Amino acid sequence: MSDINFKDFLPELVGIRHRLHQMPEIGLSEVKTSAFIAEQLEKWGFEVTRGLATTGIVATLRAGSSNRAIGFRADFDALPMHEETNLPYASQHPGAMHACGHDGHTSMLLGAAWALSQDKSFSGTVHFIFQPAEENYGGGKLMIEDGLFERFPCDQVFALHNWPGLPTGSFATRAGPVAASIDVVTITVKGKGGHGAQPELTVDPVVVGSSIVMALQTLVSRNISPHQPSVVTVGSFQSGSASNIIPDSAVLEVSMRAMMPQVREEIRARVEQIATFQAKSYDADIAFKWDVGYPATINDADAVSAAVSTITTHFGEEAFAEMDVPLMGSEDFSFLLEKVPGAYVLIGNGDSAGLHTTKYDFNDAILERGSMYFYHLAKDHL
Ligand SMILES: [Zn+2]
Ligand SMILES: [Zn+2]
Repeated sequence: MSDINFKDFLPELVGIRHRLHQMPEIGLSEVKTSAFIAEQLEKWGFEVTRGLATTGIVATLRAGSSNRAIGFRADFDALPMHEETNLPYASQHPGAMHACGHDGHTSMLLGAAWALSQDKSFSGTVHFIFQPAEENYGGGKLMIEDGLFERFPCDQVFALHNWPGLPTGSFATRAGPVAASIDVVTITVKGKGGHGAQPELTVDPVVVGSSIVMALQTLVSRNISPHQPSVVTVGSFQSGSASNIIPDSAVLEVSMRAMMPQVREEIRARVEQIATFQAKSYDADIAFKWDVGYPATINDADAVSAAVSTITTHFGEEAFAEMDVPLMGSEDFSFLLEKVPGAYVLIGNGDSAGLHTTKYDFNDAILERGSMYFYHLAKDHL
């Protein structure tokens, strides 16, 4: 299958994965994880640049005379959850867990780095991009703001994400939108509190907030084309403390997802407009606090063709299935894809517990294949 003896290296790679799993760290505080990754790469003779977006790392490998360069990206942050797997290598950091398999993504990319350092039969440059803070903090955006592609120019970029429920080691993706954008806004309704018996002296933020929740339900159904997938969810509505007190304020948390940039903009604008005018009609004030949003993840058709040809050539036609529809979840690799064409591909984690659950674990049986995917991509396309 390959020109190197990966089988002999695999036990070391499994050890690396388990070590990463034991030391999960939340986004932007992945200090030990980052140091551990850099040490592995330096041990194998890589040029390693540390400190992009604080904990991000880029390792570079050059061979031959071609000016072409490709980037492979893995994320390495964990989630604020308590692990309940009872594995011998379970989290040793209470309240943190690798529940999205980023320990596995990092290990697959480390495996590829090792393999390509052993067999440099390609011509060009490979940048191995190890990224912090994929979950919620937009580490991909932060690395770009830190000059990722100015310092390490890439013609194409590729990333893998494991996927529970997809057959072990099989691949799936699609050209165009592959994952939704996400935006989150906290809406604070400021009314005027008072006695529950004297509503005429108050501006009741519970009623205002309720009107906003109901009015937002018309956004997707009345403002967005039925051909454009999108979701608006009011996931939290907090107000008040007792039945006979009209509170001063209410706080709503709203998430919005879309596939197309123009739909995303329309939804963001309409949420503010609808909430503002609902509040006005009750004489309440309103404030908005927007979190970092992630754009939709949009795959380049040529990069997808390159990925699919590598998959089917080396792992067989049956190893690939095209996705019918994009994921409604989101992914901050989208920031990299806004700058450089590339492909985000899923690799099956088999019949495992779901992502972001306390029983989840990355499947070690796909480590070799994930590493070989990147390895062959470099050799096939450089
Ligand atoms: Zn996740
Ligand atoms: Zn993830």
